[in-house]
Amino acid sequence: MSAIETGIVPVLEVQCKDCGATITMPAHRFAANCPYCASPSVVDRPVDKGGHRKDQPDFILGFDVTREEATRRVEGWISRSRLFAPSAIKQAKVTGIQGIYLPAWLYGAVARSSYHASIGENYTTTETYTTTDSKGNTQIRTRTVTKTEYRKLTGNHSAYVLDIVVTASCGLGNEELETIEPFDLRAMRRYDAAVVSGWSAEEATLSRDEGFRIGRDEATDKVAAKLKAFMPGDSSTLVDFDTSFSEENTDLVLLPIYVFAARWGDDQTLRILVNGQTGEVQGEVPRSMAKILISVLLALGVIAMIALLIAGASAL
Ligand SMILES: [Zn+2]
Repeated sequence: MSAIETGIVPVLEVQCKDCGATITMPAHRFAANCPYCASPSVVDRPVDKGGHRKDQPDFILGFDVTREEATRRVEGWISRSRLFAPSAIKQAKVTGIQGIYLPAWLYGAVARSSYHASIGENYTTTETYTTTDSKGNTQIRTRTVTKTEYRKLTGNHSAYVLDIVVTASCGLGNEELETIEPFDLRAMRRYDAAVVSGWSAEEATLSRDEGFRIGRDEATDKVAAKLKAFMPGDSSTLVDFDTSFSEENTDLVLLPIYVFAARWGDDQTLRILVNGQTGEVQGEVPRSMAKILISVLLALGVIAMIALLIAGASAL
Protein backbone atom coordinates (compact mmCIF):
# COMPACT_ATOMS: atom_id res chain seq x y z
CA MET A 1 0.00 0.00 0.00
CA SER A 2 1.23 3.47 -0.80
CA ALA A 3 1.14 5.36 2.47
CA ILE A 4 1.23 9.12 2.01
CA GLU A 5 1.97 11.44 4.89
CA THR A 6 -0.51 14.32 5.07
CA GLY A 7 -0.22 16.11 8.35
CA ILE A 8 -0.40 13.59 11.18
CA VAL A 9 -2.78 10.96 9.82
CA PRO A 10 -1.12 8.57 7.35
CA VAL A 11 -3.50 7.74 4.50
CA LEU A 12 -3.77 4.98 1.92
CA GLU A 13 -4.93 5.35 -1.65
CA VAL A 14 -6.80 2.27 -2.81
CA GLN A 15 -8.96 1.31 -5.73
CA CYS A 16 -11.86 -1.16 -5.91
CA LYS A 17 -11.44 -3.52 -8.83
CA ASP A 18 -15.20 -4.16 -8.99
CA CYS A 19 -16.88 -0.74 -8.92
CA GLY A 20 -13.76 1.29 -9.77
CA ALA A 21 -13.99 3.76 -6.86
CA THR A 22 -10.67 5.31 -5.85
CA ILE A 23 -10.65 6.00 -2.13
CA THR A 24 -8.26 7.75 0.19
CA MET A 25 -8.59 6.31 3.68
CA PRO A 26 -6.78 6.81 6.96
CA ALA A 27 -4.32 3.94 7.40
CA HIS A 28 -5.79 2.99 10.80
CA ARG A 29 -9.25 2.72 9.25
CA PHE A 30 -8.09 0.53 6.38
CA ALA A 31 -10.91 -1.76 5.34
CA ALA A 32 -10.18 -4.69 3.09
CA ASN A 33 -13.70 -4.41 1.63
CA CYS A 34 -14.94 -1.63 -0.64
CA PRO A 35 -17.37 0.62 1.27
CA TYR A 36 -19.71 0.84 -1.72
CA CYS A 37 -19.96 -2.65 -3.14
CA ALA A 38 -18.42 -4.68 -0.26
CA SER A 39 -16.11 -6.29 -2.79
CA PRO A 40 -12.91 -7.68 -1.25
CA SER A 41 -10.97 -6.71 -4.40
CA VAL A 42 -9.55 -3.50 -2.97
CA VAL A 43 -6.04 -2.97 -4.32
CA ASP A 44 -3.30 -0.44 -4.01
CA ARG A 45 -4.10 2.43 -6.37
CA PRO A 46 -2.22 2.06 -9.64
CA VAL A 47 0.26 4.83 -10.35
CA ASP A 48 -1.15 7.35 -12.80
CA LYS A 49 1.36 7.14 -15.65
CA GLY A 50 -0.18 10.06 -17.58
CA GLY A 51 0.60 12.23 -14.57
CA HIS A 52 -2.63 14.20 -15.06
CA ARG A 53 -3.84 16.24 -12.11
CA LYS A 54 -6.99 15.04 -10.41
CA ASP A 55 -9.79 17.50 -9.78
CA GLN A 56 -9.35 19.06 -6.35
CA PRO A 57 -12.47 19.62 -4.22
CA ASP A 58 -13.67 23.24 -4.01
CA PHE A 59 -16.05 22.83 -1.07
CA ILE A 60 -16.79 20.41 1.73
CA LEU A 61 -19.86 19.70 3.82
CA GLY A 62 -18.87 18.29 7.21
CA PHE A 63 -20.38 15.36 9.13
CA ASP A 64 -23.03 16.45 11.68
CA VAL A 65 -24.19 12.93 12.50
CA THR A 66 -21.88 10.73 14.56
CA ARG A 67 -21.17 7.10 13.76
CA GLU A 68 -23.16 6.05 16.85
CA GLU A 69 -26.17 8.16 15.89
CA ALA A 70 -26.05 6.82 12.30
CA THR A 71 -25.91 3.25 13.65
CA ARG A 72 -28.92 3.88 15.91
CA ARG A 73 -30.91 5.27 12.99
CA VAL A 74 -29.99 2.34 10.75
CA GLU A 75 -31.04 -0.15 13.45
CA GLY A 76 -34.37 1.67 13.73
CA TRP A 77 -34.73 1.60 9.95
CA ILE A 78 -34.01 -2.16 9.81
CA SER A 79 -36.60 -2.98 12.48
CA ARG A 80 -39.33 -0.99 10.71
CA SER A 81 -42.27 -2.97 9.30
CA ARG A 82 -42.62 -3.08 5.52
CA LEU A 83 -45.60 -4.37 3.64
CA PHE A 84 -43.95 -6.42 0.91
CA ALA A 85 -40.44 -6.96 2.31
CA PRO A 86 -39.24 -10.39 3.42
CA SER A 87 -39.74 -10.65 7.22
CA ALA A 88 -36.08 -11.72 7.68
CA ILE A 89 -35.01 -8.14 6.82
CA LYS A 90 -36.05 -7.11 10.34
CA GLN A 91 -33.34 -9.43 11.72
CA ALA A 92 -30.60 -8.01 9.44
CA LYS A 93 -27.20 -7.59 11.10
CA VAL A 94 -24.91 -4.66 10.34
CA THR A 95 -21.56 -6.05 9.18
CA GLY A 96 -19.74 -2.88 8.21
CA ILE A 97 -19.91 0.90 8.58
CA GLN A 98 -17.91 3.43 6.61
CA GLY A 99 -18.12 7.17 6.83
CA ILE A 100 -17.04 8.53 3.48
CA TYR A 101 -16.83 11.88 1.72
CA LEU A 102 -18.56 11.41 -1.60
CA PRO A 103 -17.47 13.64 -4.49
CA ALA A 104 -20.23 15.48 -6.40
CA TRP A 105 -20.40 18.28 -8.93
CA LEU A 106 -22.50 21.24 -8.00
CA TYR A 107 -23.88 23.12 -11.00
CA GLY A 108 -25.43 26.58 -10.84
CA ALA A 109 -26.29 29.22 -13.46
CA VAL A 110 -28.58 32.05 -14.51
CA ALA A 111 -31.08 30.79 -17.07
CA ARG A 112 -32.70 33.21 -19.53
CA SER A 113 -35.45 31.71 -21.63
CA SER A 114 -37.77 32.84 -24.40
CA TYR A 115 -40.89 30.78 -24.88
CA HIS A 116 -44.00 30.18 -26.98
CA ALA A 117 -47.00 28.74 -25.24
CA SER A 118 -50.66 28.08 -25.80
CA ILE A 119 -52.80 29.24 -22.88
CA GLY A 120 -56.28 27.88 -22.31
CA GLU A 121 -58.90 29.97 -20.44
CA ASN A 122 -62.09 28.25 -19.34
CA TYR A 123 -65.49 29.95 -19.54
CA THR A 124 -69.01 28.75 -19.01
CA THR A 125 -71.89 29.18 -21.37
CA THR A 126 -75.52 28.12 -21.43
CA GLU A 127 -76.77 25.96 -24.24
CA THR A 128 -80.18 24.59 -25.07
CA TYR A 129 -80.90 21.00 -25.97
CA THR A 130 -83.94 18.87 -26.63
CA THR A 131 -84.91 15.75 -24.75
CA THR A 132 -87.88 13.37 -24.55
CA ASP A 133 -89.71 12.96 -21.22
CA SER A 134 -91.24 9.77 -19.87
CA LYS A 135 -94.51 10.42 -21.72
CA GLY A 136 -92.73 10.74 -25.06
CA ASN A 137 -93.07 14.54 -25.31
CA THR A 138 -90.19 16.56 -26.74
CA GLN A 139 -88.89 19.14 -24.27
CA ILE A 140 -86.41 21.99 -24.65
CA ARG A 141 -84.03 22.44 -21.72
CA THR A 142 -80.86 24.42 -20.93
CA ARG A 143 -77.60 23.39 -19.35
CA THR A 144 -74.30 25.05 -18.39
CA VAL A 145 -71.18 23.85 -20.18
CA THR A 146 -67.52 24.73 -19.71
CA LYS A 147 -65.53 25.60 -22.82
CA THR A 148 -61.89 26.56 -23.31
CA GLU A 149 -60.55 29.40 -25.39
CA TYR A 150 -56.91 29.22 -26.45
CA ARG A 151 -54.56 32.09 -27.02
CA LYS A 152 -50.88 32.30 -27.95
CA LEU A 153 -48.38 33.67 -25.46
CA THR A 154 -44.73 34.53 -26.05
CA GLY A 155 -42.38 35.94 -23.46
CA ASN A 156 -39.09 35.89 -21.60
CA HIS A 157 -38.27 34.37 -18.26
CA SER A 158 -35.14 34.55 -16.09
CA ALA A 159 -34.29 32.38 -13.13
CA TYR A 160 -31.41 31.18 -11.02
CA VAL A 161 -30.85 27.45 -11.22
CA LEU A 162 -28.87 26.54 -8.15
CA ASP A 163 -27.49 23.52 -6.39
CA ILE A 164 -27.88 20.83 -9.01
CA VAL A 165 -25.99 17.87 -7.55
CA VAL A 166 -24.35 15.40 -9.94
CA THR A 167 -22.50 12.56 -8.31
CA ALA A 168 -18.87 12.24 -9.39
CA SER A 169 -18.60 8.95 -7.51
CA CYS A 170 -17.83 5.64 -9.13
CA GLY A 171 -19.45 3.69 -6.32
CA LEU A 172 -22.76 5.53 -5.91
CA GLY A 173 -25.05 6.70 -8.71
CA ASN A 174 -27.27 9.79 -8.84
CA GLU A 175 -30.51 7.89 -8.28
CA GLU A 176 -29.25 6.31 -5.08
CA LEU A 177 -27.75 9.57 -3.82
CA GLU A 178 -31.08 11.30 -4.45
CA THR A 179 -32.77 8.96 -1.95
CA ILE A 180 -30.85 10.62 0.92
CA GLU A 181 -30.93 14.17 -0.45
CA PRO A 182 -31.32 17.02 0.18
CA PHE A 183 -28.15 18.25 1.81
CA ASP A 184 -28.27 21.74 3.31
CA LEU A 185 -25.62 23.29 1.08
CA ARG A 186 -25.63 26.57 3.01
CA ALA A 187 -23.36 24.84 5.52
CA MET A 188 -20.72 24.31 2.82
CA ARG A 189 -17.19 25.51 3.53
CA ARG A 190 -14.08 25.96 1.40
CA TYR A 191 -12.28 22.65 1.06
CA ASP A 192 -9.66 22.10 3.70
CA ALA A 193 -7.65 18.88 3.89
CA ALA A 194 -7.77 19.12 7.71
CA VAL A 195 -11.55 18.52 7.70
CA VAL A 196 -11.14 15.28 5.74
CA SER A 197 -8.30 14.10 7.97
CA GLY A 198 -9.31 10.89 9.71
CA TRP A 199 -12.10 10.16 7.19
CA SER A 200 -12.23 8.22 3.94
CA ALA A 201 -12.79 10.27 0.81
CA GLU A 202 -13.48 9.14 -2.71
CA GLU A 203 -11.75 10.75 -5.62
CA ALA A 204 -13.95 12.23 -8.38
CA THR A 205 -14.28 9.84 -11.30
CA LEU A 206 -16.59 12.02 -13.38
CA SER A 207 -14.57 14.89 -14.88
CA ARG A 208 -15.46 18.55 -14.46
CA ASP A 209 -16.51 18.72 -18.15
CA GLU A 210 -18.85 15.76 -17.76
CA GLY A 211 -20.23 17.16 -14.50
CA PHE A 212 -20.83 20.47 -16.30
CA ARG A 213 -22.64 18.77 -19.22
CA ILE A 214 -24.90 16.62 -17.01
CA GLY A 215 -25.53 19.56 -14.66
CA ARG A 216 -26.62 21.76 -17.57
CA ASP A 217 -28.92 19.03 -18.93
CA GLU A 218 -30.58 18.76 -15.52
CA ALA A 219 -30.81 22.56 -15.36
CA THR A 220 -32.60 22.59 -18.74
CA ASP A 221 -35.16 20.08 -17.41
CA LYS A 222 -35.60 22.21 -14.28
CA VAL A 223 -36.14 25.36 -16.39
CA ALA A 224 -38.83 23.55 -18.44
CA ALA A 225 -40.61 22.55 -15.22
CA LYS A 226 -40.32 26.14 -13.88
CA LEU A 227 -41.73 27.59 -17.12
CA LYS A 228 -44.68 25.19 -17.06
CA ALA A 229 -45.44 26.12 -13.45
CA PHE A 230 -45.16 29.81 -14.34
CA MET A 231 -47.74 29.74 -17.18
CA PRO A 232 -51.06 31.52 -16.54
CA GLY A 233 -54.49 30.22 -17.49
CA ASP A 234 -56.51 27.16 -16.61
CA SER A 235 -54.41 24.96 -18.87
CA SER A 236 -51.30 25.55 -20.93
CA THR A 237 -48.96 23.88 -23.36
CA LEU A 238 -45.36 24.98 -23.61
CA VAL A 239 -44.95 24.87 -27.41
CA ASP A 240 -41.22 25.53 -27.40
CA PHE A 241 -38.58 27.40 -25.46
CA ASP A 242 -34.98 28.39 -25.86
CA THR A 243 -32.70 28.85 -22.85
CA SER A 244 -29.28 30.42 -22.63
CA PHE A 245 -27.19 29.96 -19.51
CA SER A 246 -24.74 32.48 -18.08
CA GLU A 247 -22.61 32.77 -14.95
CA GLU A 248 -22.28 29.00 -14.95
CA ASN A 249 -20.40 27.35 -12.09
CA THR A 250 -19.33 23.79 -11.60
CA ASP A 251 -17.74 23.15 -8.23
CA LEU A 252 -16.52 19.92 -6.77
CA VAL A 253 -17.99 19.33 -3.34
CA LEU A 254 -17.41 16.50 -0.85
CA LEU A 255 -20.65 15.25 0.75
CA PRO A 256 -20.75 13.34 4.06
CA ILE A 257 -22.38 9.91 3.87
CA TYR A 258 -22.28 6.67 5.83
CA VAL A 259 -22.47 3.41 3.94
CA PHE A 260 -23.71 0.45 6.00
CA ALA A 261 -23.41 -3.14 4.86
CA ALA A 262 -25.90 -5.56 6.41
CA ARG A 263 -26.50 -9.28 6.11
CA TRP A 264 -29.91 -10.95 6.34
CA GLY A 265 -31.62 -14.28 5.74
CA ASP A 266 -29.61 -16.88 3.93
CA ASP A 267 -26.40 -14.87 3.49
CA GLN A 268 -27.96 -12.01 1.52
CA THR A 269 -26.58 -8.49 1.65
CA LEU A 270 -28.14 -5.06 1.89
CA ARG A 271 -26.61 -1.61 1.43
CA ILE A 272 -28.00 1.17 3.57
CA LEU A 273 -27.07 4.84 3.17
CA VAL A 274 -27.20 7.59 5.78
CA ASN A 275 -26.96 11.29 5.01
CA GLY A 276 -24.07 12.34 7.30
CA GLN A 277 -25.53 15.82 7.66
CA THR A 278 -29.27 15.20 8.18
CA GLY A 279 -29.35 11.55 9.32
CA GLU A 280 -31.78 10.53 6.54
CA VAL A 281 -31.63 6.73 6.09
CA GLN A 282 -32.39 4.83 2.88
CA GLY A 283 -31.74 1.39 1.50
CA GLU A 284 -33.16 -0.70 -1.28
CA VAL A 285 -35.27 -3.39 0.33
CA PRO A 286 -36.00 -6.47 -1.76
CA ARG A 287 -39.64 -7.43 -2.27
CA SER A 288 -40.96 -10.73 -1.08
CA MET A 289 -42.66 -12.53 -3.98
CA ALA A 290 -44.48 -14.77 -1.48
CA LYS A 291 -46.00 -11.75 0.32
CA ILE A 292 -47.03 -10.11 -2.97
CA LEU A 293 -48.60 -13.37 -4.20
CA ILE A 294 -50.55 -13.84 -0.98
CA SER A 295 -51.98 -10.31 -1.12
CA VAL A 296 -52.92 -10.71 -4.81
CA LEU A 297 -54.72 -13.98 -3.98
CA LEU A 298 -56.48 -12.34 -1.01
CA ALA A 299 -57.60 -9.43 -3.22
CA LEU A 300 -58.88 -11.86 -5.87
CA GLY A 301 -60.74 -13.79 -3.16
CA VAL A 302 -62.45 -10.60 -1.95
CA ILE A 303 -63.44 -9.66 -5.53
CA ALA A 304 -64.84 -13.17 -6.12
CA MET A 305 -66.82 -12.97 -2.89
CA ILE A 306 -68.34 -9.57 -3.81
CA ALA A 307 -69.23 -10.92 -7.28
CA LEU A 308 -70.97 -13.92 -5.70
CA LEU A 309 -72.89 -11.68 -3.26
CA ILE A 310 -74.06 -9.40 -6.11
CA ALA A 311 -75.06 -12.42 -8.22
CA GLY A 312 -76.90 -13.88 -5.21
CA ALA A 313 -78.72 -10.58 -4.52
CA SER A 314 -79.86 -10.11 -8.13
CA ALA A 315 -81.08 -13.71 -8.32
CA LEU A 316 -83.56 -13.01 -5.43
ZN1 LIG B 1 -16.41 -1.27 -4.93
